[in-house]
Amino acid sequence: MSQGIRVTVWNEGIHEKEMPRCQEIYPLGMGGTIASYLEKQPGIASVHCSLLDDPDQGLSEEILDNTDVMTWWGHKAHDQVTDENARRVQERVLKGMGLIVLHSGHYSKPFTSLMGTRCNLKWREHGEHGEKERLWVVDPAHPIVEGLPEYIELPSTEMYGEPFGIPQPDQLVFISWFQGGEVFRSGCCWHKEAGRVFYFKPGHESFPIYHNEHVMKVIYNAVKWAAPVRMARGYTQGNYQPLEQLD
Ligand code: ZN
Repeated sequence: MSQGIRVTVWNEGIHEKEMPRCQEIYPLGMGGTIASYLEKQPGIASVHCSLLDDPDQGLSEEILDNTDVMTWWGHKAHDQVTDENARRVQERVLKGMGLIVLHSGHYSKPFTSLMGTRCNLKWREHGEHGEKERLWVVDPAHPIVEGLPEYIELPSTEMYGEPFGIPQPDQLVFISWFQGGEVFRSGCCWHKEAGRVFYFKPGHESFPIYHNEHVMKVIYNAVKWAAPVRMARGYTQGNYQPLEQLD
């Protein structure tokens, strides 16, 4: 897009208030950390940070009118996001807004409503240091892996395991291996009407995962991949006149 991509980074913002370890790792908050990385990248026109505590939960029509791609991090308060706001995000995606759902956002209302499934998974927090995760690139032709090595290694993570209760992704970009033996589809793409959705697993609040350059590169690449495609004249739905004469 010639004008640049307008991003909204939506963050629940509760762990940042309640968990000293999270504050220590993310003095700017997870949302602020993601935003400060994205705003320095080429092709990004603006980055707005929204929090659950903001007016309209940071999801007003005005904010969404100025959003090409939204990133979503939530964990503890999925149920506090109003149904109306969740529906507004879902509808925007169907009309073309990109959505990048991070980590525990797999249970968020916008994601589960777009998927139409429960999005359940296995999980394990192994002690203070977690366990090793290797995210393997399984689609080296995908734009989301531009500039990345063939795997990303994270020394300390929370395990997420299969089966992940999602519809089959349209494109599968990463599969993770965990030290404990499980695997997980950790980077998944879907087309939803005019919009695109990317789920990306890394981002547990007690590990410095959004300080990893490869993880941030994936998020940036995904923002570019999910940016809306603007057809010259849009398209029509509903009753339609034939282009050729019908007998
Ligand atoms: Zn987590």
